[in-house]
Amino acid sequence: MYNLHTHSLLSDGVLLPSEIAVRYAAKGYRVIAITDHVDYSNIESVVCSILKFTRNWPKDSLIKVLPGVELTHLPLAQFKPLVRYARKQGIKVIIGHGETQAEPVIKGTNKAALVAGIDILAHPGLITDEEVKLARKNRVFLELTSRQGHRASNNHVVKLALKYGAKLILNHDSHAPMDINSPAQLRQVGLKAGLNNKEIERIYQDVAKFLQIIG
Ligand SMILES: [Zn+2]
Ligand SMILES: [Zn+2]
Repeated sequence: MYNLHTHSLLSDGVLLPSEIAVRYAAKGYRVIAITDHVDYSNIESVVCSILKFTRNWPKDSLIKVLPGVELTHLPLAQFKPLVRYARKQGIKVIIGHGETQAEPVIKGTNKAALVAGIDILAHPGLITDEEVKLARKNRVFLELTSRQGHRASNNHVVKLALKYGAKLILNHDSHAPMDINSPAQLRQVGLKAGLNNKEIERIYQDVAKFLQIIG
């Protein structure tokens, strides 16, 4: 029971990391990542704050909280240096804010993020065959999201990911209490996107493996 894409008031979310953790735990989740939006203006302070938070979060808590970032609306050449910076500091989950149809994301963002060393490409919109092959090669998860607007391309992402064997991940991309849905609702996102239960099980296994590797 995981969700690796959430926003706190360190960027455009409305809750403190503590409240996010408590609310997710109450819904039955056991692992979350807090992945606030960053660019060159705020990456140092966000990374510092989230690491301070996760390092002080009790180890025996019901829910594990992983430090993350979402590289958002970056000029393409900035993906690599900012991924490098975040990793070096100890960030465990790096998301690239993909070419969603719901926002004017710079063309070429999917590719720039996929070759920069990210873990998850969020809402990749009408991702191309070539980019999906790249995701597979670089072992990057392609995200299926419950978030309104961003979720419009979920079916397209599923079709190409299955065709080329790229890994998928289900995430909420929550910003506020009302976005924090149950694990069962997260599963529904996969079913609505055209996956069957066996394929969804596969996602949970792939994510479990990833969580084991990052520790
Ligand atoms: Zn946001
Ligand atoms: Zn996000």
